[in-house]
Amino acid sequence: MSTSLFTGEHLRVISLEDGIVEICLDRKHDAVNKVDEQMLAELSQALIQLPSSGLRGILFTSAKEGFLAGADIAVLQKLLYLPHQKIVDFFLSMDKVLVALEDLPVPVVCAVNGYALGGGLEVALSSDYRVITSGGQVGFPEVGFGVLPGASGTVRTPRLTDAATALAWITSARHFKADAALEAGMVDAITETDQLRTTALDWLQRAIDGKLDWQARRIKRRGPFAADPAIFAAARAQAEKNARHTPAALTVVNLLERCAPLTRDEAFAHEADAGATLAHTTTARALVGIFMANQQLRKKTKALSSTGRTIKRVSVLGAGIMGGGIAYTTAVKGIPVLLKDIAQGALDLGTGEAKKLLNKQVDTGRLKAEKAEAILASISPTLEFKEFDSVDIVVEAVVENLKVKQEVLAQVESLVRPGTVLASNTSSLAIADIAATLKRPQDVVGMHFFNPVQVMPLVEVIKSSKSSDAAVATTVAYALAMGKTPLVVKDCPGFLVNRLLGAYFAAFNLLIRDGADFNQIDRAMEQWGLPMGPAYLLDMAGLDTLDKAMAILGKAYPEVMAANFTTVIQLLAGEKRYGQKTGAGFFRYEADAKGKPKRAADPAIVALITRIQPNGTHAFSDEEIVDRLMLAMMLEAGRCLDEQVVDSAIEVDAGMRLGTGFPAHHGGPLWYADTMGGTSGGISGLKEVMRRCERYQSLGGAYIPGAGLRRLAEQGKTFYGDR
Ligand code: NAD
Repeated sequence: MSTSLFTGEHLRVISLEDGIVEICLDRKHDAVNKVDEQMLAELSQALIQLPSSGLRGILFTSAKEGFLAGADIAVLQKLLYLPHQKIVDFFLSMDKVLVALEDLPVPVVCAVNGYALGGGLEVALSSDYRVITSGGQVGFPEVGFGVLPGASGTVRTPRLTDAATALAWITSARHFKADAALEAGMVDAITETDQLRTTALDWLQRAIDGKLDWQARRIKRRGPFAADPAIFAAARAQAEKNARHTPAALTVVNLLERCAPLTRDEAFAHEADAGATLAHTTTARALVGIFMANQQLRKKTKALSSTGRTIKRVSVLGAGIMGGGIAYTTAVKGIPVLLKDIAQGALDLGTGEAKKLLNKQVDTGRLKAEKAEAILASISPTLEFKEFDSVDIVVEAVVENLKVKQEVLAQVESLVRPGTVLASNTSSLAIADIAATLKRPQDVVGMHFFNPVQVMPLVEVIKSSKSSDAAVATTVAYALAMGKTPLVVKDCPGFLVNRLLGAYFAAFNLLIRDGADFNQIDRAMEQWGLPMGPAYLLDMAGLDTLDKAMAILGKAYPEVMAANFTTVIQLLAGEKRYGQKTGAGFFRYEADAKGKPKRAADPAIVALITRIQPNGTHAFSDEEIVDRLMLAMMLEAGRCLDEQVVDSAIEVDAGMRLGTGFPAHHGGPLWYADTMGGTSGGISGLKEVMRRCERYQSLGGAYIPGAGLRRLAEQGKTFYGDR
């Protein structure tokens, strides 16, 4: 017979037979159990109320589908803005509760159904034994958020397993499957879901009967742990690679090494202190902030897509670089594709590329050969306009020429069913112009993919003044079905991402004109966190392409992007130094052993660039370089919001992260603006943006903030609002 001993909002305590008590996590009004202060307070209360006599063992369970998720991310975000000592106290108070659990005079067995992550795993680790369901997963995601498992994760893991396992588990931030957890010693047994309770009870009974030496385990868990210096040296070398911007992993390595000779109880204070220090880094705040923002964005996109048509078949026009990639990515997701071109050679190339990509996956064991064949067979190459009445969306990826696009879409429009979306992958033409000669402009949208399509996660969905909401919703649904992140963007030159890159390249042109060394610019931007500096990026993208793009953007946004001097982009394009494609741009390129272009310095470039530096060379600090480039980008982002190019700062930042590799540890251009100068929640970094812009007023419109940014700065507000 079972008797209820305690019922709270988060858990209940039930007395079972033979002196066994069950603590069952069952958070009210929620689908999952989460760790927060109230849950821990209840656990503490429950432990106090355990019977003082006759108690023989504790079974720890969950009534939900998973055992225990980590801290609520909103709770974590609040924590990051508390004073250091408050964060330390928070961690120490959690430690206290978990120590009370771990030090109970009877054995405790935890039945992990599904997952135990972060704080959830820290709770599970406070039991003597863990039984997990075969499909379960455990891990510490904290380092991925720029923090560490601060409620005993770094203390318990190495004492339960060993230093190498603890370092690997905590610094990788990975989720581990049940078998990996068993091998690592993080759990003690794996079982099927329907056997979980009996297996856990069996382990508990064996511990009670003295068949498992849980007391000896506890002694080990309370003492120091062995530390092989070579293990720490290897982990440190790995963690140091990214430590400049994401210091959490290195902090964990140092912390574990420092705490190895200490007892469990001595180590808690070190862990709490290191955790609080990481919580105050700009990286942690950005990573947690954008995680929350992404959740909002996902919800919004999903809601939008729900009103769109389900995509059952797609047609792609043009089997070139982009069309081939779009067809492949669509087919991989199980949607059949009609791939139309005017040249058999192009079709062969497009399908050949898809075949190569599929074969690679088969070779590496990620895809079965039959599946690869089926995917390839679902792409139907054609030179004729046939079966177009069977598709739900047509993606046009033919040459970048307005007349050609209008002609081909007019032909298609007469063949498809009304309401079939016509999506153009143009990079520089206005969607309204493409739609102007069509009968149903409401069905026309832009669908701007990034190259290579199968790799780049972003798709800008361009809504012209004529595009219908239904066409936008269907395109968003299609992008989601492709596994992409769609952003709805207004029809304006450059759309969002290329427009902001335009402002950035215009600022780069100014810097070079003013005498900066492009090598230093690249170095400074890479150290700041970009995957590559602007000169190398231009070489990769092609200076001929960028020259044309900058001419279009300069016309559209003359105050910001037009130049009244010969720019370095124009200079190099004029010299046919297009970058990698011609073997020379800012750098020289030679094929390496694998045939990949390898960059080298080119002595000829210095004399060439001197021609367009009227005042010769000039020394800049790295800070000034970063400021001039990033201020230009963030101010343009502010103007985009003023013009409602996208709805929110969240979308601007997601676009730049996903479309250009803008570093997550800076959040995005607008997160970076909000936090400029190291300001934190409540104090606007935008005042600092305004202050820095004043230095560059003589450089023109690029450094004059738009109305929205100015207003927010004056009011002491931020783009993201209160955090
Ligand atoms: P590409 O030259 O590689 O391919 C164009 C293909 O279109 C060729 O195979 C050509 O035979 C075919 N074509 C031409 N006229 C056609 C017609 N009437 N009907 C069917 N097919 C026709 O070009 P790409 O780089 O794939 O670019 C395609 C579009 O995507 C352009 O609008 C471009 O601006 C845009 N875009 C390109 C990139 C990029 O990085 N390459 C990125 C984003 C957008």
